[in-house]
Amino acid sequence: MAHSRGQRPAGSSDEADRRGWLALADPTVERAGSGDGAHVAKRDLTLRSPYDHQAHYGHKRDFSWYGYKVHFSETCDEDFPHLITHVVTTDATQTDMEQTQAIHQALDQRGLSPSEHLLDAGYVDAEQVLQSRSRHEIEVIGPVSQNYQWQAKAGEGYDLASFHIDWDKQQATCPQGKESVKWTPGTDQYGHPKIAIRFGLHDCRDCPVRSLCTRSVTAPRILAVRTQAEFEVLQSARQLQQTEAFQARYAQRSGIEGTHAQGVRALGLRRTRYIGLRKTSLQHVLTAAAINLIRLDAFLEGKQTAKTRTSRFAALAPVEIAA
Ligand code: SF4
Repeated sequence: MAHSRGQRPAGSSDEADRRGWLALADPTVERAGSGDGAHVAKRDLTLRSPYDHQAHYGHKRDFSWYGYKVHFSETCDEDFPHLITHVVTTDATQTDMEQTQAIHQALDQRGLSPSEHLLDAGYVDAEQVLQSRSRHEIEVIGPVSQNYQWQAKAGEGYDLASFHIDWDKQQATCPQGKESVKWTPGTDQYGHPKIAIRFGLHDCRDCPVRSLCTRSVTAPRILAVRTQAEFEVLQSARQLQQTEAFQARYAQRSGIEGTHAQGVRALGLRRTRYIGLRKTSLQHVLTAAAINLIRLDAFLEGKQTAKTRTSRFAALAPVEIAA
């Protein structure tokens, strides 16, 4: 994923001017002007430029930019040039996660589906892993989110993985051997299926290790889990990503960072030359085509692909010396 900043040309359309300045003054103007007041995405309210009303502010961790976002997919076979197989440009507010299935769909339609797709954490969660498998037969390789429960962060206490869940009986058993008393299917705020599993009030109130399990003063422990398939994928992925085998396999993904760097440094990817999403998308496709031609040329000339550089800081890491 790379970012393109929108240019600020001398002229702009009257309509974009009007919408831009009105939105600056009152963000609800966009809502009224959309023609679909009930379904205005939050990103539509981030209009900030009178010149390009499709360019928005994007934020990722501590990095912010204004304009668009481009996602590249490329091959990573050893001994062959890494060629870009898909390019998609979105406005800067769309998340990486929103693109995972769209990218797989596009690759599938063109007969370019990989058997494995190495993706960074922003594109991966249990739902994406399952959908990629069932819809496109693509195995997603990428880190899922860590367990952020306070029990897991503290390294002590009973996080979700400490409980046994019997999906057939719709019951969970806690580390103290107590069985849950209530199993309530529902949905989260995004409409995603979720199950609340509640333990007995008396069991938890009299529990000798209560402080390891819940911070509530009086309420019993309640687990929140996703569907069985997502729960199991998430748990096994969290274990797998701790292994050296996963790290070695996932290391291949770093090649895409070189692609972004090549696009930015050699081909001006960071700045769009045009106004609007469609023209910026075209620029990104042409940039990808240029990268492919440069790489094919280097391959035919017999030039070796450069290995990922080890930073000076990383080089200071202690090395294990064989006995
Ligand atoms: S607090 Fe409740 S759920 Fe937690 S270990 Fe004790 S009895 Fe089990």
